[in-house]
Amino acid sequence: MVFDFVSLFPECFASYLGVSMLNRAKEDGLVSFSFANPRDYTTDRHRTVDDTPYGGGAGMVMKAEPIFACVEDVLTKGDVPRERTRVILFSAKGKRFTQKDARRFVSDYDRLIFVCGRYEGVDERVAEHLADEELSIGEYVLTGGELPAMIVADAVTRLIPGVLGNAESAETESHTEEGVLEHPQYTKPEEFRGWKVPETLLSGHHGEIAKWRDGMSRKTNGEN
Ligand code: SAM
Repeated sequence: MVFDFVSLFPECFASYLGVSMLNRAKEDGLVSFSFANPRDYTTDRHRTVDDTPYGGGAGMVMKAEPIFACVEDVLTKGDVPRERTRVILFSAKGKRFTQKDARRFVSDYDRLIFVCGRYEGVDERVAEHLADEELSIGEYVLTGGELPAMIVADAVTRLIPGVLGNAESAETESHTEEGVLEHPQYTKPEEFRGWKVPETLLSGHHGEIAKWRDGMSRKTNGEN
């Protein structure tokens, strides 16, 4: 999967994408990360990327022209066909991102272009005429779209075949089946500050363990 981050602050990404599973996936050639800055696509002397909102109001709005120029240039690069590419605008008013979307991205696309907003948001013409979809990561307002972009990149990357080893399979994780949450997990020591690991997990009896896990998962899901 090719990830392109369109951001005014590309320096935000290095630390998170450069460690652990995301970095390993990159080193293994399963994903690639590229960055493009709309400021590099401005045409005026001051490299202006924002302006005041029509109709008045607080703050500044990201201008459409540099974002269109930037994304359109990104689209000309690489060899992923347009129909296997998805342009995603992050916005607090977008559709809520879920695990189902992560699965859809892995199966339907080979390239995701993430447009990260800043300031009071992005000129609406980007949502209407450039982005294929507008996503929110939750009902709160962040300073920029960079964290949402990394969150979606992370959720998508762990579903790409070969990224997780068998030992860390995504199959039993929360949300793999819609609305189903994982059972509780424990590791050594058996007893910590007087709190013991449930007996069943120490029994070595696979059938009982599976039953316990299923029951606990249902409990987490409020089924009993
Ligand atoms: N004025 C906007 C509003 O009320 O919806 C909020 C703009 S926010 C300060 C700046 C940028 O952060 C947005 O354009 C978007 O890219 C990103 N952002 C903030 N919250 C987000 C969320 N919950 N999900 C996705 N992106 C978000």
